[in-house]
Amino acid sequence: MYYRKGVTALIVAAGKSERAGEDKLSLMLGSESVLERTLCAFLGHPKVDGIVLVGREVPEAYLNAGKPIVTVRGGSTRADSVKNGLKAVETDIVLIHDGARPFTEAGLISEVIEGVLSFRSAIPVVPVADSVRIINKEGELVEFPKRDTLSAAQTPQGFYTADITEAYRRFEGTPTDESEVYGRAFGKAHAVKGRVENRKITTKEDVLGIKAVVGSGWDLHRLGDVKPLKICGVAVAPAGGSFSWSDGDAAYHAVTDAILSALGEKDIGQRFPDKDPKFKNADSGLFLKDVAELAFGRGKTFLSLSVAIELDSPKLAPHISGMRRNLSEILNISESRIGITAKTSEGTSPSVIRCWAVVTLV
Ligand code: MG
Repeated sequence: MYYRKGVTALIVAAGKSERAGEDKLSLMLGSESVLERTLCAFLGHPKVDGIVLVGREVPEAYLNAGKPIVTVRGGSTRADSVKNGLKAVETDIVLIHDGARPFTEAGLISEVIEGVLSFRSAIPVVPVADSVRIINKEGELVEFPKRDTLSAAQTPQGFYTADITEAYRRFEGTPTDESEVYGRAFGKAHAVKGRVENRKITTKEDVLGIKAVVGSGWDLHRLGDVKPLKICGVAVAPAGGSFSWSDGDAAYHAVTDAILSALGEKDIGQRFPDKDPKFKNADSGLFLKDVAELAFGRGKTFLSLSVAIELDSPKLAPHISGMRRNLSEILNISESRIGITAKTSEGTSPSVIRCWAVVTLV
């Protein structure tokens, strides 16, 4: 078989997901499924020319992905699926990858391709964190391999297509990955440094921490001598507050907008219209409580909050702990997960306060 120069990603997506109890490739990571995110990692890599997808239809959003995606039927085992897929590969290099590994970064894909060009094969490996023990049928620990000799093999595993096709032809039994197939046929495969983040989704719990959403908010108020200057609920000066319909707490407004943004809701101005007499000189802490309740009502909790405040005077350092306490109480988040940064405009904007906020919700 003649292979043209190039790189194909062979994505194995035929698994029945018995361990996950549901289809792990369809689990959502934000707005995309695990499989979509996996495809995206390879489609977005400049050196990958196309994809052979084994065991699944192409997701609708990827039908016109700009690179060819060929679909192939899965086999009854992972090895059979890979063998089916290899028949559809037309390039000289193939990267064989688990569909359930969605966090493969471009740098790793590049290093695997370079590894194949230099060493004929490239297997990403990471050190094993736990002690590995071999257990006999009686449930007794019988062997204690030294941890520093062990590595966990990840994917994508890269090969010349002709080599791995031949290695599979010679292989008998049930391999767990291609490094085993290649190693038995041709001896030592070449290891490259894997990534801890490049993990495989095996259970629903694996994606729980990944469902975090991030929102950002920003606010600017013009300062005047109209009311006390309040920042995150703390009166930092008896006067010098902002021209604003509510109490003018720009930091609370930025945090409120960040939360609304993370929830995909309309912004603070639409939720709490100024000119509404109800909100005249309103405590902005109530706006923040309202959107925090909205988030809690959707089963969300706050993971982290960063606030940056630009103000020339007064100095905010003595007030930061009070601000964190207020935010902590309203958002039900540990103070250790709240960061507040105070800056000045270096005299360029003495009559305004600007606030930025970034919030993470899970
Ligand atoms: Mg405002």
